[in-house]
Amino acid sequence: MGTAEKPDSDGQRIVCPGCLLAAPESSIRILPYFDDQVNGYVVLYRCEQCWLPYLEKTRARITTTGDWAEVASLIAFFEHHGVFQLEFRRGDPLPVVRALLGRMIDLVGAGAIRLSARSSEPANEAEANASAMKENEKLAEAAYDAMYQSSFPTAKDCFDDARSYFAKAIEIAKRAGLEDEVVRLTARRDHIVSVYNTQFRGVR
Ligand SMILES: [Zn+2]
Repeated sequence: MGTAEKPDSDGQRIVCPGCLLAAPESSIRILPYFDDQVNGYVVLYRCEQCWLPYLEKTRARITTTGDWAEVASLIAFFEHHGVFQLEFRRGDPLPVVRALLGRMIDLVGAGAIRLSARSSEPANEAEANASAMKENEKLAEAAYDAMYQSSFPTAKDCFDDARSYFAKAIEIAKRAGLEDEVVRLTARRDHIVSVYNTQFRGVR
């Protein structure tokens, strides 16, 4: 018996690098933070008692920057954690992308977006490929849905987006040797091309 602490029902304890107090592993938060050394966003681990001021600094910095490289660095950070911003990928202007990043940080602060240490390091390359492929497929399907809500010529832009996201997904699947996925994605892409040709390109 003696003075040994009873095993923590919450799992391991981790010393928070911010306040240097031991915190249950489940209370450790992960957030993006600008690092001057690497000139970009890196992952910061903090306990839930002290992480919000750091997150606020990140928010203040990104919502006022005029630097695309800095914006791209934070986008990459989020993408690494499986959170994507369509507006950036579509080439929306900096103020739009920046404001949405501020909103994404708010969601992280509110717990609606929970970044996890595990997802920042895909277990292996196959997993990373599969998730990149799925993400492109998701974007392709979103663009396809948008095609139905647009009138010409915007429908054509949506169609072009859908086709190029499918091309990326297929390329990743090919590189990763995912034969079945190549076949499935190619069939889906061809279907969408034929829908576009018959319903949107005009009556033949
Ligand atoms: Zn702390």
